[in-house]
Amino acid sequence: MQYYSTNKNTAPATLEEAVVRGLAPDKGLYMPQEIKPLPQDFYDHIAGMPLADIACRVADALFGGDVPQDVLHAITRDALNFPIPLVEVEPGIWSLELFHGPTLAFKDVGARFMARLLGYFIRKEGRRQVNVLAATSGDTGSAVANGFLGVEGIHVYVLYPKGKVSETQEKQFTTLGRNITAVEVDGTFDDCQALVKAAFADSGLQARMALTSANSINVARFLPQSFYYFHAYAQLRRTGHRGDVVACVPSGNFGNLAAGLAAKRMGLPVRRFIAANNRNDVFLQYLRTSRYEPRPSVATIANAMDVGAPSNFARIMELYGGSHEALCRDVDGAAFTDEEIRQSMRGLCQRTGYLLDPHGACGYQALRDGLRGGEAGFFLETAHPAKFLPTVEEAAGRAPEMPERLRAFLQGRKEAVPMANSFAEFKDFLLGRA
Ligand SMILES: *Cc1c(COP(=O)(O)O)cnc(C)c1O
Repeated sequence: MQYYSTNKNTAPATLEEAVVRGLAPDKGLYMPQEIKPLPQDFYDHIAGMPLADIACRVADALFGGDVPQDVLHAITRDALNFPIPLVEVEPGIWSLELFHGPTLAFKDVGARFMARLLGYFIRKEGRRQVNVLAATSGDTGSAVANGFLGVEGIHVYVLYPKGKVSETQEKQFTTLGRNITAVEVDGTFDDCQALVKAAFADSGLQARMALTSANSINVARFLPQSFYYFHAYAQLRRTGHRGDVVACVPSGNFGNLAAGLAAKRMGLPVRRFIAANNRNDVFLQYLRTSRYEPRPSVATIANAMDVGAPSNFARIMELYGGSHEALCRDVDGAAFTDEEIRQSMRGLCQRTGYLLDPHGACGYQALRDGLRGGEAGFFLETAHPAKFLPTVEEAAGRAPEMPERLRAFLQGRKEAVPMANSFAEFKDFLLGRA
């Protein structure tokens, strides 16, 4: 499969080139040349298939031409070696619990898949060390750092905004050591993202060291996120639901939603999607006005979605040929203030005892508000509520149980490189390590 750049100003790349580069040379995002529907027999049997088998079938369709099947299946199974249960929280409203992986958030899936695929390409080619730059607003950092921890030939730099991620999030990428370096930037998430983008655009730096991204910019992180949409659909059919299915996605950089829309392009019969935002609602405004106007992000309690200029917007536009009308046929939107997010967490906990994290709460509420008669839906519960313990406890009036994995992180000692919001300084730092 060839991968083309959304900016269409550079030659198509192989999967390996796209994964190693991250961003295309013209600063566009790579997209697969074609996304073909999976055969009907797959959908006829999907309700009886386990997660790993479903994922391997989807992986074959996406990457089968580029990676030997035994390698691809091993990578896929390893990336998904934890359960992803679908839990009914209210009639017709299901929570897809994507938080049973090593860092208790959905990004584990894409990060683990990408780490293993990149590791395979590096070994195969005997390449020099590849340096992964990851900007994080919270959860990317922990998922990428843990996904890549100990993978030979790869060093990871996690850039995060000082004081703007929770302690639990921070501990998950600043305590690991080995091939993981945390960089604490005096700025916002958008500043971190800009530093990473500037590094990729700097040819002097690129000549000295191999750089790539592990943000949802990278196709190896973005595409595997489609796996669990098929799995959610299969589980929902298994419950006997026959009506339309709606998928609701708490969104920040919109990689997760873009992967869901790619799944729909592969024939997954999800009737429509709902993109749930916090107050950073440029996507919702786009749906309403057909004008896309990125703006600086504002801080919210669902901080992994504090994104003012979502990088995967370009991919979503590609999937719909730039047509606002076509996109609006498949995707609705919603946005919530912090107070609405808190109310949502409190309401569901009082009615049922189910605890949401602030991101999942946006998804839950948007789905609850948006479901129509005869439909059932699932929202992506993107993080374990214990990752946002003070917020959840204050809003819901009950503390989530702290998983052992998280407790272990909290006991580690933070190590981070302080960094001004300055590309010159960041570049010097990287050159010093080349
Ligand atoms: C990253 C993240 C999101 C947003 O996902 P995108 O793919 O960037 O839209 C939502 N919730 C949590 C918990 C996250 O970590």
